[in-house]
Amino acid sequence: MRDLPIFLNMRERPAVVVGVCVVAARRAELALRAGARVAVFAPTLGDEFRDLKDAPNFRWSPRDPAAADFGPGSLCFIATEDEALIERARTMARAAGALVNVADRPALSDFIMPSILDRSPLVIAVSTGGASPILGRVLKARLESLIPAAYGRLADLMSGFRGRLAAAVPSQTLRRRFWEATLEGPIAEAALAGNLEAANTHLAREIERLAAEGALPSGEVYLVGAGPGDPDLVTFRAFRLMQKADVVLYDRLTDERIMNLVRREAERIYVGKRPDNHELPQEEISALLVRLAKEGKRVLRLKGGDPFLFGRGGEEIETLAEHGVPFQVCPGVTAAIGASSYAGIPLTHRDHAQACVFVTGHGKEGRIDLDWSALIQPRQTVAVYMGLRNIEPLTRAFVAHGASPDLPAAIIDNATRPNQRVVVATLGTLVERAHEAGLRGPSIVIVGTVVTLREKLDWYAPASGVAKPS
Ligand code: SAH
Repeated sequence: MRDLPIFLNMRERPAVVVGVCVVAARRAELALRAGARVAVFAPTLGDEFRDLKDAPNFRWSPRDPAAADFGPGSLCFIATEDEALIERARTMARAAGALVNVADRPALSDFIMPSILDRSPLVIAVSTGGASPILGRVLKARLESLIPAAYGRLADLMSGFRGRLAAAVPSQTLRRRFWEATLEGPIAEAALAGNLEAANTHLAREIERLAAEGALPSGEVYLVGAGPGDPDLVTFRAFRLMQKADVVLYDRLTDERIMNLVRREAERIYVGKRPDNHELPQEEISALLVRLAKEGKRVLRLKGGDPFLFGRGGEEIETLAEHGVPFQVCPGVTAAIGASSYAGIPLTHRDHAQACVFVTGHGKEGRIDLDWSALIQPRQTVAVYMGLRNIEPLTRAFVAHGASPDLPAAIIDNATRPNQRVVVATLGTLVERAHEAGLRGPSIVIVGTVVTLREKLDWYAPASGVAKPS
């Protein structure tokens, strides 16, 4: 950092301005706005000073400054092209212990003038350390659009209640969290919308409540199903909750394009598989949800597909319920449903199946614990989650329990995503086909004669994400 950024209290302190030009007038105006006593030294006073010269703290002397005009701790702004005058004024000012700024001459200056965004009492100053004043101004323009004028009102509102909050709530941490929560909530919204009366009343009430209860209201957990991957399959409600979150817990099934829908300022915590291939244990995730919510945060727990279908969503919120943390659940399009649509394989169909069963093919050492006689039924489709890794024992078990090796079966890999791939085979050939295709998952396996319908109903062209041309 080249310079030390500080905001100087200039009330009733002397500031000397040397120069007649518009820059000199701007410096004088700024110093007056900050409450300084401004003395301008210039042979004539141009039109630029018209609005300043009647200010009580403004004084004009139609001559060059003299040594006695400078004092220690004062500021001196020089804005002239007269090199001799610059040198004289600068020498006198520095000899008297004043700090000097020469317009557009950082090398001659003790301090530089930043680009200023004034939303008083909120003031933002931007400096490029003299590297590029233009860049500073461009940044300032960006900030202008980012920080509406109403932010000044918000700062005023908060300033008005600071003392009252400090008196009512001794804990500094609690006060900080209170302001953080206030800035993100309806009080700030009311102030920004210009409804100061409502904001005032609400804020006063919240401070009283905080003082009485000694704790912030608990946050909330949103358990949200984000669907199988295509961001267009996120529901409106899920999107709204994603936009409200302060912090998001996600895992490896959450597509990057879906993460882009989460409020940008939200803190992101990855709780999926670590490099050592271990997932954060379920109890730790639950404990983390409880802790974050108790800090008053709006916590988004994003799940692939639907949170209540092979998603352990139930377990996570059981803990929340035990700790009295409020939560809401938002359904998502589950992988089998997404895969079914995007592969053109209806799960039920009058000519093929009247029922569909969702099962998990997860199992240790090839042992898949399923009620095979219930699964292998005529006119029933089976959709298997987490089946790819066990595809060999899985298809073998189907046949061993009576299913025909000719029964159509498909694997939909990365369903609904741009890299979706579909392998269509039979129970007898599925392993080989999957192997040839080199599928990596996540995948859904669909078993049943409905798979044959894909020949006619395949519509999705993954590369473009739109329907295939007919
Ligand atoms: N709650 C999720 C399922 C989580 S279990 C849901 O409702 O979809 C994880 C399994 O879901 C994966 O092993 C895979 O079988 C399936 N899965 C998730 N996303 C998928 C996708 N885009 N394509 C195919 N299968 C997917």
